[in-house]
Amino acid sequence: MNPIERIVPRAADLGEGMLVRRALPTRQRRMVGAWCFLDHAGPIDFAPGGGMHVGAHPHTCLQTFTWLIEGEVLHRDSLGNEQVIRPGQVNLMTAGRGIVHTEDSLPDARRLHAAQLWIALPPELADCAPAFAHHPELPRWNEGPCALTLLAGSFGGHTAPATIHTPLVGLDLLARQDGTLTLALDPGFEYGLLPLEGSMDIDGEHFATDEFAFLEAGRAQLTLNLSTDSRVLLVGGQPFGTPVTMWWNFVGHDKDAIARAQRDWEAGHPRFGEVPGATRKLVAPPLPWPGY
Ligand code: MN
Repeated sequence: MNPIERIVPRAADLGEGMLVRRALPTRQRRMVGAWCFLDHAGPIDFAPGGGMHVGAHPHTCLQTFTWLIEGEVLHRDSLGNEQVIRPGQVNLMTAGRGIVHTEDSLPDARRLHAAQLWIALPPELADCAPAFAHHPELPRWNEGPCALTLLAGSFGGHTAPATIHTPLVGLDLLARQDGTLTLALDPGFEYGLLPLEGSMDIDGEHFATDEFAFLEAGRAQLTLNLSTDSRVLLVGGQPFGTPVTMWWNFVGHDKDAIARAQRDWEAGHPRFGEVPGATRKLVAPPLPWPGY
C-alpha cells in the first residue's frame, strides 16, 4: 500500500480579513480526481455588521461547489439566480464558457463555516452553457460512529443529486462518538481527506484539523479512527486525464483559454454577463506568463 501523503494547507486571504486554508491546489498536489480547488473557510465569528462579501467575479471551465456547515450565504449570478445556502446544503454552479457571481453573508450573519471547492470540467465541456443548482436535500445515513452526508457522486449505494461530469465523490463524515469507521473505496479513485473539525487517524497516522491526507489510487478500503465531534471532508475521483491550467478564478485546458477569458472579463465581454444589482467587480491580477 502506498504511503499517505501529508499536505499542510496554505493560508489564503479572500480580502477584508477573510482568511481561509487552501488544501488544493498546493505545490505537492494540484488535484484529487477532478477536484482542483479546496478552501476551508472558518469557523469564524463575525463582528456585528461584518461577514463575508465577495464582489462580482467570473469563472470558466469549472463547477464551483459550496458545502455549508454553519452560517448563511447569499449567492447571486449573471443568470439571474438568487439563492441563500444554509447549513447542510450544497450549491453547484457550472461555469462552462463563462458566468459571474457574488457571495455575501446575510446582514445579521455572525458565523461562517464552509468548504468551497472547484471541479474542473473535461475538455469537451470547457465551453458548455453556464448553470446553477441548489441542493437542499442530500443523502444522509449513519455508519458506525458517524453521520454521513453524500455531497457529490455515489457512495455506499447512495447517489447525490449534483450533476457532475467525471467520476468523483464528495462525502462529509461527522463522528457522533469516538470510534472506528471502515469505508469501501473505489480502487480506481484517488482520495483526499481533510479534517474540518477535530482530527482523524488513518493507518496509525494522526491528522489534525486542516492537515490534508492524500491517498493514491489503488485502495479498496480505508479505516478511520475519529474522536467525538470530528468532521472530515472526503473527496475522491478518477485521476483527471488532461492537464488543467488555473489562474485567479479561471480554469482552462491551456494558457490561451485563460488569457482569452481574462481579456474578455476585462473588456466586459457578454460571455460573462452581469450580476443584477452588483456594485463591486473584482479585478484580475496581471497574467503571470510572459508573452500573454
Ligand atoms: Mn466564485
